[in-house]
Amino acid sequence: MTVEEKWEEILLMVKTEYELSNIVYDSWIKPLEICQIINNKIYVLVPSDQIALNYIKKKYLTPLKIVVAEVTEKDYDIEFILPEDAKKLKPVKSIALDDTSENSAPVEDYNLNPNYTFDTFVVGNNNQLAHTISLVVAEEAANPEKKFNPLFLWGDVGLGKTHLMHSIAHHILANHPQLKIQYVSSEVFTNEVIEAIRSGSNSQIKAIRDKYRNVDVLLIDDIQFIIGKDRTQEEFFNTFNVLYNAGKQIVISSDKPPKEMLTLEERFRSRFQWGCMADISTPDYETRMAILRKKEELDDFELDDEIIQYIANNIKSNIRELEGALNRLMAYSRLTHVNITIETAKEQLESIINPDSHKTVTPELIIEIVAEHFQKTPDQLLSKSRSSDIARPRQIAMYLCKQMTQTSLTDIGRILGGRDHSTIIHGIEKIEKECKKDQSTQNLIETIRKKINPN
Ligand code: ADP
Ligand code: MG
Repeated sequence: MTVEEKWEEILLMVKTEYELSNIVYDSWIKPLEICQIINNKIYVLVPSDQIALNYIKKKYLTPLKIVVAEVTEKDYDIEFILPEDAKKLKPVKSIALDDTSENSAPVEDYNLNPNYTFDTFVVGNNNQLAHTISLVVAEEAANPEKKFNPLFLWGDVGLGKTHLMHSIAHHILANHPQLKIQYVSSEVFTNEVIEAIRSGSNSQIKAIRDKYRNVDVLLIDDIQFIIGKDRTQEEFFNTFNVLYNAGKQIVISSDKPPKEMLTLEERFRSRFQWGCMADISTPDYETRMAILRKKEELDDFELDDEIIQYIANNIKSNIRELEGALNRLMAYSRLTHVNITIETAKEQLESIINPDSHKTVTPELIIEIVAEHFQKTPDQLLSKSRSSDIARPRQIAMYLCKQMTQTSLTDIGRILGGRDHSTIIHGIEKIEKECKKDQSTQNLIETIRKKINPN
């Protein structure tokens, strides 16, 4: 028997011998594939990213080596590699096992949606890193890694921040029940603080402090609502400091990265950036399809592929709306007991789909999206600044304006902060050249282009 033939068994043995939970096994171990074996070294493919690789290496290299040695009675070296490093090598085999689901966690008292778990979260190009880091944070919550603390999740509304935060909380409740967690939306937090202040009672303020400062993990959702509310902000940051200094894990979500939260004081802004920032962007077509299929499966409801594709093609920027469309058809079908055809679907979804479908591409939209992509503001792109972290996005905006709209170079210059025609030509040529000789620039442009117009 070769290692390849035994691989599936080896991975399962790692699971049983090291008592890995299903979710840990499914997330980190099961996806591992043998890429190639050279001499005594097994190249193991990690079909994910560098963070996942480092983590797997740190946690599971030794267990894997030991089990390989047990099963094969030989000492192999193991090296983990990423897909981009493995492109030339063909995976020997891929492992497929039945899906197993995470144990359900007790959710009463925690304000957690029982459906928002890692299990139901579809990983796509838009959220892969955020998902990986969230999983690491959830697994390591007892001893948070400094580089992931605080974890700051940001992304537009409806893209899965709350779902990920609840997943972290569920995972900890299920797998590290000794840890105390507290999940709160910043609105609720604000109300509690305001209420306590209004009551003028020290014991109420103390109660809030006890509640939020005596925890191992604090998850605070939609932090943007706190910003600008002085007392609440102050209360939160004191709590933050207490927890952070005690080495407790903090997870924060927001619709913007800290540096764009302009009304946020600098000392807080930099603090949020101490740990790790992970963004969730809009999902591509494949991910939208996968999310719809997952939801069909969870709700035990089936639609023709054509209808699913119609939804995925027409709702692009918000997963909540994507689900809303499915919910509407589901409700309609259950009420009327009819089978949904593409015509009924179009009719039923008219009001949801039409506002989104005629988004015209304008230079303003391009500037907004390019700025957002580089975590800058449109104003920065229009400014006089020549620093390269602004000049380059600006040139990319010039290039995309020329490519994606009919706007004249003179008008592009005017819209982009009153720049002259020759500056625009220079900018466009620079990006054109880069695209020709550099695949990563091409990919970058493609990514941004899809954000502007996901068709
Ligand atoms: P946000 O907090 O960023 O506004 P939510 O977490 O509330 O967004 O997500 C909106 C809806 O989309 C929720 O119902 C959530 O379950 C769903 N959703 C978001 N991302 C995913 C995903 N990757 N897989 C499955 N469902 C998702
Ligand atoms: Mg949310």
